[in-house]
Amino acid sequence: MTDTAVSYDPDNIFAKILRGEIPCNKVFENEHALAFHDINPQAPVHVLVIPKGEYVSPEDFTARASDAEIAGFMRAVGETARQLGLTANGYRLLANHGPDSRQEVAHLHVHITGGRDLGRLLEPEA
Ligand code: 5GP
Repeated sequence: MTDTAVSYDPDNIFAKILRGEIPCNKVFENEHALAFHDINPQAPVHVLVIPKGEYVSPEDFTARASDAEIAGFMRAVGETARQLGLTANGYRLLANHGPDSRQEVAHLHVHITGGRDLGRLLEPEA
């Protein structure tokens, strides 16, 4: 078990979505992952892909998840982008972890954004 795994909060909002306690606008689902529209979209298309297991970050996920979970999650990312019609013009994948990234929900998630020119990756330092 990794340090980050210890801090997994089973009452985080994505855990509640996975348990069906709160609704989501689902895009895609497989055995190991769920994709749904972000409640506060930052682009014309903004979807979150989450693993179904209790993982807080990419390093936690890759340390503890099975090969099948990792493959299922990455296949869900690709299939979701395809289903959203983003493959021709492209899209951005982004995963926040920890305070420097301003992660809000401590359950691993990848943002898929697209539908317009997304500009450069990072804002210049103020
Ligand atoms: P983070 O900052 O942790 O990378 O991103 C968390 C994302 O989850 C945010 O973009 C936020 O809008 C989204 N979010 C927070 N609560 C909910 C919710 O209840 N439902 C959905 N669909 N998205 C949520």
